[in-house]
Amino acid sequence: MHALQLSSRPAGDSRRALLEVPGEEMRSWLHARGQAPLRARQMRRWLLAGRATSFEQMSDLPKQLRDELAAAYRPLGSDIARHLISCDGTHKLLLRLHDEQVIECVLLQEADRRTVCISTQVGCGMGCVFCASGLGGLVRNLTAGEILEQLIHARNLLPAEERLTHIVVMGMGEPLANLDALLEALAVATSPQGLGIGARHVTISTVGLPAKIRQLADLKKQYHLAVSLHAPNEELRTRIVPTNDKTGLPAILEAAGYFQATTGRQVTYEYVLLRDLNDQPAHAAELAKLLRGRQAHVNLIPFNDVEGLPYRRLTQQALTDFVAILRGGGISAKVRKRKGADIDAACGQLRRAANTEESHHESHE
Ligand code: SAH
Repeated sequence: MHALQLSSRPAGDSRRALLEVPGEEMRSWLHARGQAPLRARQMRRWLLAGRATSFEQMSDLPKQLRDELAAAYRPLGSDIARHLISCDGTHKLLLRLHDEQVIECVLLQEADRRTVCISTQVGCGMGCVFCASGLGGLVRNLTAGEILEQLIHARNLLPAEERLTHIVVMGMGEPLANLDALLEALAVATSPQGLGIGARHVTISTVGLPAKIRQLADLKKQYHLAVSLHAPNEELRTRIVPTNDKTGLPAILEAAGYFQATTGRQVTYEYVLLRDLNDQPAHAAELAKLLRGRQAHVNLIPFNDVEGLPYRRLTQQALTDFVAILRGGGISAKVRKRKGADIDAACGQLRRAANTEESHHESHE
């Protein structure tokens, strides 16, 4: 594993990032300097396709314009605060935002796939009991620009001839609680003028917000939906996923069915396996029964330890049994491969570790 400690931002820098500036505002800024509106498109192309991280690199803009731009705006609003590289080729970036908040994004590399796992919020308000991201509650939503910048930073790590192929919206936060910003970012990510990633290669993972699932379905995009189920019955799910108390399983399953019927895309159900809590043979049998007839696919995720939480990873035997019972019940199921384990690549763990380090640091001063 390698860890690189990177840039620090000069204090009091109030310049906004290019992707945060509305098109109209940028065009009138350009107009005031005698520049054609198409300059705005040129700059975006430099960020999205040209891999520019400074205005200086935007070599087909007049030198004076580049200087004026650099005085007024930042090309990217986020900095790489830490960059960890796992022995399996997984990169984890801790990005610092303009307000000093930090978020994580992860680049996973496997065969021809270059997948980025992105965050949609700082923290999370859903409070799933085993998840590191929600421990401090929700801080704020990310903007579309901040979501897109995660993809840009990750893509900039790739050799020139490689491009991103997949997006999983499985980082920090509840994507459907910040749907508008996410959709705006994904529209750019999937456009040929943007990052050119196929919409069918985008997976949005949700705790299960029925109204938002329906709204997403009605847009008839080709995005793939993953619903975090984690339990085969109401009582257990409410213990593990507290928001289930208000939503209830039937509403989630109905909304997922609607998504499948409307978009024609199979829904994946995610199930984090927590030792002794939801990993027993009876749970597997109940899950198979719950999902029967739904053409569902189940993604089993052995719990990644979170320091300070009492949950544990299940045993290999329990995992083998769980999979066998599901498949025996006619349900398609896979176990998610673990990547980047040596760099805390999963689920809000690095941000948490960094925050803890920071507060230790502070308390020693
Ligand atoms: N809010 C979205 C995205 C969360 S992250 C959602 O709930 O789906 C994507 C997946 O990782 C979710 O299924 C989430 O429950 C799971 N996850 C979170 N923390 C985990 C941990 N410590 N170990 C294993 N999976 C975890």
